[in-house]
Amino acid sequence: MTNKLPLFIDGNFADSKTSEWLEVLDPSTQTVLCQAPCATDKEIEQAINSAKDAFIDWKETPPPERSRVMMKYQELLKQNQNEIAAILSKENGKTLEDAKGDVWRGIEVVEQAANITPLLMGETVENVAREIDSYSYTQPIGVCLGITPFNFPAMIPLWMFPMAIACGNTFILKPSEQDPMTSNKLAELFVEAGAPKGLLQVIHGDKKQVDLLIKHPDIKAISFVGSVPVGQYIYKTGTEHLKRVQALAGAKNHMVVMPDAHKKKTIDNLVGSAVGAAGQRCMAISVAIFVGSAKDWVNDLKSEMELIKPGPWDSEESGFGPLISKEAKKRVLQLIEKGKKEAKCLLDGSNCEVEGYPEGNWIGPTLFTDVSTEAEIYKTEIFGPVLACISVDTLEQAIELINNNPFGNGTSIFTASGKSARKFRHEIEVGQVGINVPIPVPLPFFSFTGWKQSFYGDLHAYGKQAVRFYSETKTVTERWFDEDEDSSANLTINLE
Ligand code: NAD
Repeated sequence: MTNKLPLFIDGNFADSKTSEWLEVLDPSTQTVLCQAPCATDKEIEQAINSAKDAFIDWKETPPPERSRVMMKYQELLKQNQNEIAAILSKENGKTLEDAKGDVWRGIEVVEQAANITPLLMGETVENVAREIDSYSYTQPIGVCLGITPFNFPAMIPLWMFPMAIACGNTFILKPSEQDPMTSNKLAELFVEAGAPKGLLQVIHGDKKQVDLLIKHPDIKAISFVGSVPVGQYIYKTGTEHLKRVQALAGAKNHMVVMPDAHKKKTIDNLVGSAVGAAGQRCMAISVAIFVGSAKDWVNDLKSEMELIKPGPWDSEESGFGPLISKEAKKRVLQLIEKGKKEAKCLLDGSNCEVEGYPEGNWIGPTLFTDVSTEAEIYKTEIFGPVLACISVDTLEQAIELINNNPFGNGTSIFTASGKSARKFRHEIEVGQVGINVPIPVPLPFFSFTGWKQSFYGDLHAYGKQAVRFYSETKTVTERWFDEDEDSSANLTINLE
């Protein structure tokens, strides 16, 4: 009998009472790994009530005490990094090494959460008026919600709940139904770290569960990461229900290749960032813009891409894993077919097979050149190991092309010229910029600052912006009287 994935409510892992179950498949074999429940309305209500109850005491828990839970959690995540990575790889398909990185980039955020106290510090000004002082405090907001995508099953939940909980809130996590097992492991270790009951709840399910959660009156803030249409829906529905929302969405990330760049390093970085994780990264490079004579590097790029082979997560030979599902593979294949009519296909990974894994969702590295900005393969986020190449004459043209793209998650330039790099960084309308760095995901003392259609909201994920997202600011204005002081009514709004 297939194993049933429990919900995590009120500090307990327990089987759901639901009659609706979703199969979680190994994307290399289609073996059913477990059945994930679609939590019932009653179970969601129980989770929210438990989170509300836990908030009463947790918000009074001194930040240094909250930090200590995060310190212990960070230690346990490190100790269990390989085990978490193996669970993650099985359900997501990404290679073990890549999965360890997925866990590690999450651990870095937990380290930031373990240092929460100075981030919560308010501001003070003495004598804002004569003998009147002002100061501000940061206070938690209540029960927060996180809805996460399939592509980083450890890192993205860890972007969210550790910071929210360190700020004094409690949290409901609804992970992707395609790889939900990792989240249960993260919750198990959180309990082991000494987190009091009810701080974190894990609810499984899909659209129906999300709908109930995002409209629930007791949810104060929503963090979402996923595709553009769902991101827009969550942002609109969440704000319509008067909640604060941060929704990180899809992307189309360009790398500009200047002719003065270090050729070998540029090609290596381009290949890794385009096909790593089968292109299923929101910061993957999916468009390369070759400036001037750099376009002559395309054949070398093709030769290097040809060497990379997909395969199962536990083989050291695998460059990357399968796509997450049969549906995802079908969608990418359709886009490749369309691309063949719109552009020149130099390398076609459509008929990719992996020996011993006939059922895997494989697609090999795929390379298009002469891609127009009107082509479907340029306009759509493909989310597969597919790279589209465009040639332009000047850096100005490259910048204009990128600035006209509706997405603004990440971009990079490879060059040996400080002058070109400076111009690019200053003029580009994208929120995360790499200079000779292909996937510029900021470390957690910064925030993850996607722009345009890659982000809906005001305050970004992790870093100082997350502290503001998960907190209220209370500003106090204070004075004290002498007993024998004279006074009369102040009929103005001046402080005196
Ligand atoms: P998705 O939008 O399909 O799903 C994300 C979450 O939303 C899941 O938990 C899912 O259950 C839920 N969901 C799906 N459809 C829903 C609906 N109609 N109503 C309510 N909830 C729904 O995304 P995905 O396929 O899991 O992830 C891939 C996408 O995520 C890509 O577009 C990628 O660019 C994006 N992404 C963005 C970032 C970023 O930082 N900007 C990071 C990672 C992934």
